Amino acid sequence: MKYITKYRSPNYNSRNNSKIKLIIIHYTALKDYKYAISYLCSKEKKVSAHYLISQDGLVYALVEDKFRAWHAGQAYWQGITDINSISIGIELDYNPYGKNNRFTYKMLSSLKILLLKIKKKYKINKNNILAHSDVAPFRKKDPGEHFPWTSLSSSKLILNFKKIKKNEIIVLEKWFKNYKIKSKKNIIIISLSLLGYDTRQIHKNIKLYNKLIRAYRIRYINKIDYAKKNIIYETVLKHLFKKLLTKN
Ligand SMILES: [Zn+2]
Repeated sequence: MKYITKYRSPNYNSRNNSKIKLIIIHYTALKDYKYAISYLCSKEKKVSAHYLISQDGLVYALVEDKFRAWHAGQAYWQGITDINSISIGIELDYNPYGKNNRFTYKMLSSLKILLLKIKKKYKINKNNILAHSDVAPFRKKDPGEHFPWTSLSSSKLILNFKKIKKNEIIVLEKWFKNYKIKSKKNIIIISLSLLGYDTRQIHKNIKLYNKLIRAYRIRYINKIDYAKKNIIYETVLKHLFKKLLTKN
C-alpha cells in the first residue's frame, strides 16, 4: 500500500518512549478530504492524526507513527488516560451530514489493509482496535453508528464473539457470584471495566452510564437486537469471555 506523504501535520510531539498499543478510528465530520487535510495540518487547530483515508481509498500519512499525534483528546482505556502517547489515530473522510456520508468500499478496503499492517507491526491486540467513542464515550460518537464493524470482525481484525453461546457465559456468571456481585448492572459495569472502558464515574451517574452503554451498543449490537431483553448484559459477558480466551 502506498501512502501519500505530500502533506504533513506540524501537530505532534514525542511519545516519550511509550509503546504503541491501540489503534483509534475516527471520522472527520468535515466536508471533504481536502478540507480535512488542511484542518489536520493547520497549526492553529492543534489536532492531527497519523492517517487520513479519503472516500476514494487514498491514504494520507500526516504524522509519522513514531510521533504522538493529537487525535484522542481527553480519553481513557485500560487505566491509561494519555491515549495519544500509546495509539495510532486514523481519520476517515466521512461526515454523517455531508456528501461524504458513506463508508465506501474503497475506503474500507484501504482501512483494512492499513489496520492489518499496523496491527502486525506493533503486535496490537484485537481488543485494542477501537472507536474514538470507545475511549471517549462521554464526549465522542465517531466513527458513528453506521460504521461497519462487522466487516472488520469478518476480516478477523477485531474480536468476533457472535458464536459464543449463552451457556458458555455461565462460567463468568458463577465467577461474579462467588464475589457476591449479583446485580446485572454491576456485572455489566465490572465487565466493561475489565474490557478497558472508563467506568470510574458511571456507578453514581446514570447519565454517564447511559452514554457509555450507548457507545457500546452502537458498536456491538445490531439494530434488530436492540430491543431484546438483557442484550447488553449478554453481549458484554460474551465479549469479556472471548477476550479472556484470546491471546492476540
Ligand atoms: Zn474522533
